[in-house]
Amino acid sequence: MNILVIGTGYVGLVTGTCFAEMGNIVTCIDIDNKKIDSLNNGKVPIFEPGLDDMVKSNLNDKRLYFSSDICGNISKKDIIIIAVGTPENKDGSPNLNYVFDVAKEIGKNINSYTVIINKSTVPVGTAHQVGSIISDQIVKRGKEIDFSVVSNPEFLKEGDAINDFMRPDRIIIGSENQNAIQKIRYLYGPFTMNHDRLLIMGVKEAELSKYASNAMLAAKISFINEIASICDNLSIDIESVRKGIGSDSRIGYSFIYPGVGYGGSCFSKDVKALINTSKESGSEPLLLDAIEKRNRKQKQIMFKYVMDEFGNDIKNKIFTVWGLSFKPGTDDMREAPSIDFINSVINSGAKIQAFDPVANNEAIKCFPSDWIKDGRLIFFNDNYEALIKSNALVLMTEWKLFRNPIIEKIKTYMNDYIIFDGRNQFDPDYIVKNGFTYKGVGR
Ligand code: NAD
Repeated sequence: MNILVIGTGYVGLVTGTCFAEMGNIVTCIDIDNKKIDSLNNGKVPIFEPGLDDMVKSNLNDKRLYFSSDICGNISKKDIIIIAVGTPENKDGSPNLNYVFDVAKEIGKNINSYTVIINKSTVPVGTAHQVGSIISDQIVKRGKEIDFSVVSNPEFLKEGDAINDFMRPDRIIIGSENQNAIQKIRYLYGPFTMNHDRLLIMGVKEAELSKYASNAMLAAKISFINEIASICDNLSIDIESVRKGIGSDSRIGYSFIYPGVGYGGSCFSKDVKALINTSKESGSEPLLLDAIEKRNRKQKQIMFKYVMDEFGNDIKNKIFTVWGLSFKPGTDDMREAPSIDFINSVINSGAKIQAFDPVANNEAIKCFPSDWIKDGRLIFFNDNYEALIKSNALVLMTEWKLFRNPIIEKIKTYMNDYIIFDGRNQFDPDYIVKNGFTYKGVGR
C-alpha cells in the first residue's frame, strides 16, 4: 500500500517505519524541517530501542521517505494516517489545532477515495469534526471526492514501541464503513497473522477506549502510590503489600509499582482530557480528579523525603539524581517527575548533579540556563562521577544500569551515605548493612 503518515514524532515515526518494514511504501511528513533533514540523513532524532536500524534499512530499501511537503504528497495515497500531537490546553482540554490543520490540508489536496486514519489521541466526536473539515474543503474546490475517517488509537509504549507495534495486544478500528474496514484489515494483516487482534467498533467507542485505557493505567499507579502513603505513616513495607495484592490473579502485578508519580506525554494529558469529556457529558469525574490529584502530590514525594531527612534545610547540599527521563528506555522528558524534584531542590538552595544514560541532552532543555552556567545543575556522563561530594543519591528512573551499583565505589565518591530510592529498586537490608540510610517509597 501507499501510505502517508502526517506527524513524525514518537507515534508517527514508529508507525511509518513498521508499516514500511512490512513492505508498504511510506512517506512520513512533519512541519519540523530539522527533524525531516535529520531523518533523511538516517539520523533518528529520538531514542527508541531498535528504531535506528529499522529506519536506516527501510530508507536504503526505498520503502520509507521523509518530507516536509504535505500538499505534494497527499494525492494517490491509499491511506493517510494522522499522528500529530494533541497537547493539553491551559484548561486541561486537548489542543486539536494540529489535527484540524492537517484535516484542512487533506481536504485541499485529496483527489480520489482515501481512507484517513486518526491515530492521535482525540476526544469523542473528533473524527466526525475532521470529516466535516475535509468535506468543507472539497466542496470549496467544487469537487466530489469520497473519503472515510477512521479512529485507530495507538497503544504503543515508548521504550518498547517497536515490539508493541509489531505484536499488539489489540488493534482498535472505529468505523462503520465496510470498505475502510476492509482496507485496514489488509494493512494490519501482517501484525495479526497468528491471532486476530482487530477489534472493530463504532468511531466514538474507539475514541473513548484510548482515554479509558490510559486513565485505567494511571488509576492503578495512583492507587498503589496512595497505599504507599499509608505505609509510610504506619511504618510498614509497601513491597510486601504490593506482592500481597498483585498475587491475586484478578489484580495482577502490572502497573502497581509505587514510585515518584506517572509522567510522560500521555497519562496526565489524557486523564485531564477525560475529565473534560466527563464534565461536558454531564457526568462527575470524581475518580478521575482523584487520580490526577494523587499524582501531583506524588511528584513531590522525593522532595518531601529529602526535606524530612535534612530537617527542612538543604541549603548548599548536593543531591545526585540518577535517571531523568519519565521512564527507562526513552529520552522523553515530557512531564518527567525528575523535573519537579530538581526544581524544588534548586529553589530551596541546594545543588543537583544529574545523570541519565540517554536523556541528558533533552533534560538540559527543561531548566533555566542560569542554573547550568552557575553550577547549580550539573549533568554528568557517568553515574558514579555524578556522586562526587554528594550528600544523597536520589533514584528517579529505574534504568537497568542502576539495579546493581557497586556499593564500595559509591562510597568512595559520596560525602554522606544516604539513598532515596524513588522506584524501590534496591534491597534496603543490603543498603543499610553497607552503612547507608535508606528511604524508599512507602518503605
Ligand atoms: P510528538 O510530539 O512526538 O510528535 C508529533 C509530531 O507532529 C511533531 O513532530 C510535530 O512537529 C508534528 N506536527 C504537528 N503539526 C503538524 C502538521 N500540521 N503537519 C505535519 N506534522 C505536524 O507526539 P507523539 O508522542 O508522537 O504523539 C502523537 C499523538 O499520539 C498524540 O495525540 C499522543 O497523545 C498520541 N500517543 C502518543 C503515545 C506516546 O507514547 N508518545 C502513545 C500513544 C498515543
